[in-house]
Amino acid sequence: METSISERALHEECGVFGIYDSTGKTDMVPAVYSALYALQHRGQESCGIAVNVDGVLSGYRDLGLAGEVFTPEVLDSLPAGAKMASGHVRYATAGQCTRSNAQPMIVHHCKGGMALCHNGNLTNAYNLRHGLEMSGCIFHGTSDSEVIAYLITHNRLRTPSIEDAVCETMKELKGAYSLVIMSATKLIAARDPHGFRPLCIGELPGGTGYAFASESCALDAVGARLLRDVEPGEVVVVNREGLRSIRTLCGTQPHTLCVFEYIYFARPDSVVEGTCVHEARKQAGRFLAQSHPVEADVVIGAPDSGLDAALGYAQESGIPYGVGFIKNKYIGRTFIQNSQAVRESTVRIKLNAVPSVVSGKRVVLVDDSIVRGTTSAHTIKLLREAGAKEVHYRISAPPFAHPCYFGTDIPDEKQLIATGHTVDEINALVGSDTLGFLSIDEVQRLAPASRCGYCVGCFTGDYPVPPPGKTMEAFFSKPLSESKSGKML
Ligand code: SF4
Repeated sequence: METSISERALHEECGVFGIYDSTGKTDMVPAVYSALYALQHRGQESCGIAVNVDGVLSGYRDLGLAGEVFTPEVLDSLPAGAKMASGHVRYATAGQCTRSNAQPMIVHHCKGGMALCHNGNLTNAYNLRHGLEMSGCIFHGTSDSEVIAYLITHNRLRTPSIEDAVCETMKELKGAYSLVIMSATKLIAARDPHGFRPLCIGELPGGTGYAFASESCALDAVGARLLRDVEPGEVVVVNREGLRSIRTLCGTQPHTLCVFEYIYFARPDSVVEGTCVHEARKQAGRFLAQSHPVEADVVIGAPDSGLDAALGYAQESGIPYGVGFIKNKYIGRTFIQNSQAVRESTVRIKLNAVPSVVSGKRVVLVDDSIVRGTTSAHTIKLLREAGAKEVHYRISAPPFAHPCYFGTDIPDEKQLIATGHTVDEINALVGSDTLGFLSIDEVQRLAPASRCGYCVGCFTGDYPVPPPGKTMEAFFSKPLSESKSGKML
């Protein structure tokens, strides 16, 4: 998640990574550690690394950021000599933020071990889990990823290979999933037939192997070259014979990439479906300048994900671009969570306006979204206190009016400012002089080079896959008992 400072209410769910080097030249643990750092924006609650040494799977996972969990001692404790490894960063959108829900999820089974990493949310997880429990399965956590791990293991009993078990399982799953699966001898990537969440393939330097990652920035972190995206419905298998694709489910559903990957979640230096995220965000700014022009002296962005769109607005409008906010880089997660007094004045501590840029000026402020509206109001207040004469608020997304069921933590409809308020009313509530949103049509044209369709369900209420019922939502937020050790079983 490339977070806008003015709206902290949205969270991405996970980042996945896997790497295979048949020559054993790549030092696997440092490689996955670097990749997790590159994917940290996609999940900050827990993380883990799994390694495969001669078919034996082991690993470590715990709550916290990659830099907190993987101390030098923990990194040293992971076995050397692996030719294959995987890693995961998590933000909980289905299931609690607990150690038992952290990933990679390692499963030991008579047909062989498996380490599973999942990004996305299933919409039929409750029914699948109920069916498994009624047949005697026992679950350790509450995440929908464990349901996937169980189904693959079950299907493995009657299929000749793990990739066949993955294909069979995909026929049962509904919703969003980008998977990286490590078996004793294979590294497998799989993406749901709608392609909600990104997943890409890279080639290691010298062609010695391959890597899979949620975003290409993680491939860059390990020196891998981006080859292509995993196609919706595709299963890609890497073993010592090389890379192989199974496309049985490709084209069975319309491609509906989460458009918010371009607007907010993905890092600007990542390439998603052939388009650099930075360019897509600049395009959003250009559209805003065309559809919501205004006379102004300076264009500024709300750090971080509003910056690229602000640049696009400035280029299209001819209004100078300025750095209107300075973001405090030294606020740690613990500091924010542990201090109630600090939490109440979060915006002022995280962000400060630059008076010389905004004082006495008519300011265009470009941001990626308005969720509840409270932080937007604080941000605009900061600009006015720094002397801004006018604040024209431009949002590089349409108004959020509906929840997400595919892995984004959008709050309840009752908390969304766009539900039940017109644009004029929102403008008055957040305290801007004028307000303009991107249209539904424009948001689907941010990346002309990308040959995919988009999910825009949180803007329209029209979802590519029917939403789950209330029972499932309640179940997957149940509290759990918790173990103390971070070591995997
Ligand atoms: S509902 Fe919104 S946030 Fe969720 S997948 Fe669709 S576009 Fe993305």
